[in-house]
Amino acid sequence: MNLGLVWAPGLPVPFEYPSAGNPRVAVLLPGFRETRQVRYFDRLDNEAALRFAPEVLAGTAIQLRRIATKNRPTTVRNAVVVFTRESDPGLTEYDRDMFWDIFGVPAFEQYLSRRNRLLASECDAHEGLHIRTSSARREGWIVDPAPCACGDTRPRLMPTPGFAPSGLRLCEERP
Ligand SMILES: [Zn+2]
Repeated sequence: MNLGLVWAPGLPVPFEYPSAGNPRVAVLLPGFRETRQVRYFDRLDNEAALRFAPEVLAGTAIQLRRIATKNRPTTVRNAVVVFTRESDPGLTEYDRDMFWDIFGVPAFEQYLSRRNRLLASECDAHEGLHIRTSSARREGWIVDPAPCACGDTRPRLMPTPGFAPSGLRLCEERP
């Protein structure tokens, strides 16, 4: 066997819950390290997911939207974490209101690399995304070094004044 030809995917990355506490998190995107509190599920209508009873859902906006229309867990009570990537414009107030309407909890954006590495993440202040790696950049966004209300001193990615993220364009799926 030639091990050199075996394709090795990237190591699973840790999932970081953006707020206080240590809730049970169902992650809908593969590639995250599983722990007692963080589990990967490709769907939430099976027995394992029901038994896990997630308090937080983490996935792309499209995945979360799909869950909402099909098999929304009634146990979600802390937050939803919305994964975005470079090609996504970022969450708008409209998107946040939509997730609030669906799940009744705040949405936190986490900006990921292609390998799910956390580039920037939103905090409880919901004012921009704290930069986690120096390479984090986003078209139409600037780096703001001003202190954040949450106390985290890391600079934040903020939409350029006048630049309005166009949102995740899920409104057409709304009933
Ligand atoms: Zn903050």
